[in-house]
Amino acid sequence: MTFPGFCCFAKSSRPIMALSFSYVTPSQLINLRRSAKVAIVDVRDEERSYDAHIAGSHHYASGSFSERIPNLVGAVQGNDIVVFHCALSQVRGPACAQTFVDYLSQMNEDPGIKEVMVLERGFNGWQASGRLVCNCTDVPCKSESA
Ligand SMILES: [Zn+2]
Repeated sequence: MTFPGFCCFAKSSRPIMALSFSYVTPSQLINLRRSAKVAIVDVRDEERSYDAHIAGSHHYASGSFSERIPNLVGAVQGNDIVVFHCALSQVRGPACAQTFVDYLSQMNEDPGIKEVMVLERGFNGWQASGRLVCNCTDVPCKSESA
């Protein structure tokens, strides 16, 4: 049985992007970073300037996230996994992750990102569990990922 009207789908080798994101714990994230190319995206707003951040993370504040999403896609292209977080990853982190997933699913070109995740308990949870943080003022942070 054939569906001539859908032939264009058959030609595409692009895997169908899952229209959702999953959660990852700090220890899972550390393991992931050993085996895959992982970009960490901090979507906290002004807190980033007076709080520390995860070493090697990008910063795309939730307040201007939608406008800057094309820049973000360019910045994280070449990574397998993009992990979002805010302070607690309860509101801004998941919202930005969903916006990002929606944006990827509407793109004509495949940026190669296989998975979108949210860091459970956010930056505060990361710091509270004793993980390394960085205090530099570079965006994106150029520190070696810990
Ligand atoms: Zn830094």
